[in-house]
Amino acid sequence: MRMTASEVTGPADATSMRRCDVCIVGAGVAGLNAAFAASRHMSRDQRIVLVDRRERVGGMWVDTYPYVRLHQPHGMFTAGNVKWTLGRERSYLAAKDEVLDHLEHCLEEIRGSVHVDTYFGHTLEAVDEGSERCRVTCRSATGELLTIHADTVTKAFGFRITPNDPLSLSSSQAHSVSPDSCDVRTGDIAADDRPVWIIGGGKTAMDTAHALITSCPGREVNMVAGAGTLFTRRDRAFPDGLRRWYSGVVTSSFGAEAARRFDGTNEAAVRDWQCATVGTAVTPQTANFLLGVLSDDEVRTIERGLHSVVMDYLVDAVDRDAAVDLQFRDGDTTTIPSGSWIVNCTGYVAKNEHPYEPYLSAGGKVLSIQTRSATLHLSTYMGYFMTHMLMLGKLRDTPLYEFDLQEMFRASRTAFPYALLTVAQYNLSLMYDALPTKVFTQCGLDFDRWYPLPRRTLATARFVMTHRREREHQRRSLDIVRERFDIRCGPLRHDQTAEVDGH
Ligand SMILES: Cc1cc2nc3c(=O)[nH]c(=O)nc-3n(C[C@H](O)[C@H](O)[C@H](O)COP(=O)(O)OP(=O)(O)OC[C@H]3O[C@@H](n4cnc5c(N)ncnc54)[C@H](O)[C@@H]3O)c2cc1C
Repeated sequence: MRMTASEVTGPADATSMRRCDVCIVGAGVAGLNAAFAASRHMSRDQRIVLVDRRERVGGMWVDTYPYVRLHQPHGMFTAGNVKWTLGRERSYLAAKDEVLDHLEHCLEEIRGSVHVDTYFGHTLEAVDEGSERCRVTCRSATGELLTIHADTVTKAFGFRITPNDPLSLSSSQAHSVSPDSCDVRTGDIAADDRPVWIIGGGKTAMDTAHALITSCPGREVNMVAGAGTLFTRRDRAFPDGLRRWYSGVVTSSFGAEAARRFDGTNEAAVRDWQCATVGTAVTPQTANFLLGVLSDDEVRTIERGLHSVVMDYLVDAVDRDAAVDLQFRDGDTTTIPSGSWIVNCTGYVAKNEHPYEPYLSAGGKVLSIQTRSATLHLSTYMGYFMTHMLMLGKLRDTPLYEFDLQEMFRASRTAFPYALLTVAQYNLSLMYDALPTKVFTQCGLDFDRWYPLPRRTLATARFVMTHRREREHQRRSLDIVRERFDIRCGPLRHDQTAEVDGH
């Protein structure tokens, strides 16, 4: 039975107790999407409690490097269908502060339809799932306990991104820095003229190279790009102006086609097809695709500005006389001047160990949005769709595949994106049958919204006509992935005991 719970059952002091209908832990964009979706099923007098260990709304955008920009046009990075108020052209790639302002605005919009109490600076310690409701225990940074009684709980931890430290290297002559604590456009690094070595070849590395090349023209910038990263070519995925009508690749069609081509074994062939249709890269090899986006202009600027690209992995930097040796995994060494800058852009995904937790608890009241039991390709989508599924009581009976994104990422970077896109296609198909159509039509996260209505309608019509019969192929591919890489990838077993705690 749903209980209306707008009452505070204890003072908000040292050991306080709150009562609410929905408790969401994680105030990043996934948590905001969960709040938005939950609010669509709640009445005005009901209450959401939103908890986060960070001191404000915004999640990873609060402390990620200062020159980070959105990959996608800003309109599609939101909670539910909350509109941006920036007043910029549609293609504008919002900067960090603009993203944070928008996420704050999303929270205010959600507050327009339901009560939302926020507890920032509070870390989740445990969720005890009872037969009637859940007890959520959190602790503030100063040690006070907060207990929340909620009908349902969503743990929206997403990719659990935390800032990177500088690389720990033997050298004391090189400056080892992290973009999260060293803005490469300003301060000592910008005032210096010694070479910069960017370690990593993903989005952070590209953003860092672009920032350095454009803000410090003439500076020697080098990149150690590992196995290389493939990006989605922005000019193909989001063509501008009139070209939206006749060129480009509609995102949902790309996802469907990738899943159609992927059979669980042929990731190299799917990658080659992607390279040819919608891919772009700065590096000669591209073993990784991490759903990042780069424009032709960015690629040109970075290619022209880079002094060298090493397709290898840095192992250590060691002082030798008045210079520093960079040592690489394949045994090569490069000598660089003392005082060179080494910037850690090695990435944020699957950095730390996190225990497995199913997306739905044994009692069906705790939804968990994280990488060990992922159901869709982006945490924003999971926050939105999975919460609709939870609120409508559809999660138990819909045999969604859970996917251990963390383990898959470690097992094969090349197969990872196509397995993930296949899981997303498969589960979206099941959700399409389980949810009211308006949940889909009102989803502002949908990248297809870039295109004019007739093109979107065509893509949707094709999905509606084909998604059920394509499921069998997708299921088979995913089962092969499970066997091949020995990772969790299959329907959730609702009888398993959920470990529901604060991890
Ligand atoms: C450098 C970088 C750039 C990116 N750019 C884009 C982009 O342009 N477009 C895009 O779509 N995606 C991008 N991503 C992916 C990005 O992860 C998502 O866009 C998104 O912001 C993640 O949101 P989230 O809510 O899932 O996770 P987070 O933003 O990490 O939010 C999770 C929240 O949960 C809180 N939390 C976790 N554990 C606890 C606990 N025990 N108690 C209390 N609170 C807890 C955390 O403090 C955090 O605030 C980027 C990722 C990186 C690393």
